[in-house]
Amino acid sequence: MAEPLLDIRALDARYGDFQALFGVSMRVEAGQVVSVIGANGAGKSTLMKCIAGLIRTRHDAILFDGAAVGDVPAYEMVGRGVALVPEGRRLFGSLTVEENLLIGGQLGRPGPWSLERVFELFPILRERRNFAAPSLSGGQQQMVAIGRALMSNPVLLLCDEISLGLAPAVVREIYARLPDITASGMALMIVEQDIVQALAAAQQVYCLQEGRVVLEGRSASLTRERIAAAYFGARSAHGAA
Ligand code: ATP
Repeated sequence: MAEPLLDIRALDARYGDFQALFGVSMRVEAGQVVSVIGANGAGKSTLMKCIAGLIRTRHDAILFDGAAVGDVPAYEMVGRGVALVPEGRRLFGSLTVEENLLIGGQLGRPGPWSLERVFELFPILRERRNFAAPSLSGGQQQMVAIGRALMSNPVLLLCDEISLGLAPAVVREIYARLPDITASGMALMIVEQDIVQALAAAQQVYCLQEGRVVLEGRSASLTRERIAAAYFGARSAHGAA
């Protein structure tokens, strides 16, 4: 089997004395869409932050593109091709839509994504380009956050709860754009609490519970019921599908 783009090997993560992740192992192949599902506090955001370099971990706990990067800082991970759409979006509130997008490109790599390409993906952002970011609706702000990450031309895009707090129609609109993003060969790792959405969008699903992977498998081989059981705490659901 080809070497995965992202290979997480027995990853532990701590906040001081509190351990948030326990021996987490996952793989993402180039161009693949992977969903990570779990309830509040399961460790999903911690996992995203470890991969993005916002939390340092054991050097060889995370291999990206064949290199051990567990202790590589975030700004360097952007340059290596990993971009994060953080939970809560974290846009620069005093800047316009366009300025937020341009900032995303500053630490990144050369590649197909540009202001023009982001505006093609989300045309409403072209119309709102000179608006202050906080004046946009929640869904439009999420589009800015995704666009800002794309501007760094990642090979792996990490999306932390992109549908949180958004109306179902807006969530569908954002998810409908994902194939345009992966068409260029980019891999996606999506943290999602909505099981139906996660199964529909991804080829591979991991379910986290209390910092541990309790279920993993190809989405085509997993049922909603099986994931729900893992999500809500049935340890008996453990095992690869
Ligand atoms: P949510 O959907 O609520 O964000 P999550 O699955 O993303 O949940 P994390 O945010 O990764 O979970 O949190 C995992 C655990 O780590 C939780 O018990 C949380 O309270 C704890 N935690 C998160 N951030 C910190 C921090 N900065 N300091 C201490 N503990 C933290």
